[in-house]
Amino acid sequence: MCIFCKIVNGEIPNNTVLEDENFLAFDDINPQAKIHTIVIPKAHVESFGDVSADTMSKMTPFIQEVTEKLNVSNSGYRLITNIGSDGGQEVPHLHFHILAGEPLRGLVNKS
Ligand code: 5GP
Ligand code: ZN
Repeated sequence: MCIFCKIVNGEIPNNTVLEDENFLAFDDINPQAKIHTIVIPKAHVESFGDVSADTMSKMTPFIQEVTEKLNVSNSGYRLITNIGSDGGQEVPHLHFHILAGEPLRGLVNKS
């Protein structure tokens, strides 16, 4: 079982930001910004390359709700999903990173 499935099952503790029957948002253990939250579907899907349109249609409003709860929907944030080895994906369970809480630098940054 993958690390994020163990988090869903309660075998690994997490700091939950928001949860519903299908999705879970929790603090990243190694934050790369002042706010770094991970959003996952509870059902194991390896990556964005495998997720169904139905799951994404439900996940989109859930992610938006997480950004409201984090109070970053107006100040802004970066939403990232890494896919496969060249994408730098380390945990093989679809997840979106929400990075926020400060001006972000790095890839795909216009400034
Ligand atoms: P990836 O590199 O796969 O896109 O991102 C995996 C993320 O999961 C990393 O940012 C890493 O810090 C986070 N992570 C890995 N293991 C754990 C864990 O056990 N708990 C939490 N909260 N985050 C984790
Ligand atoms: Zn999993």
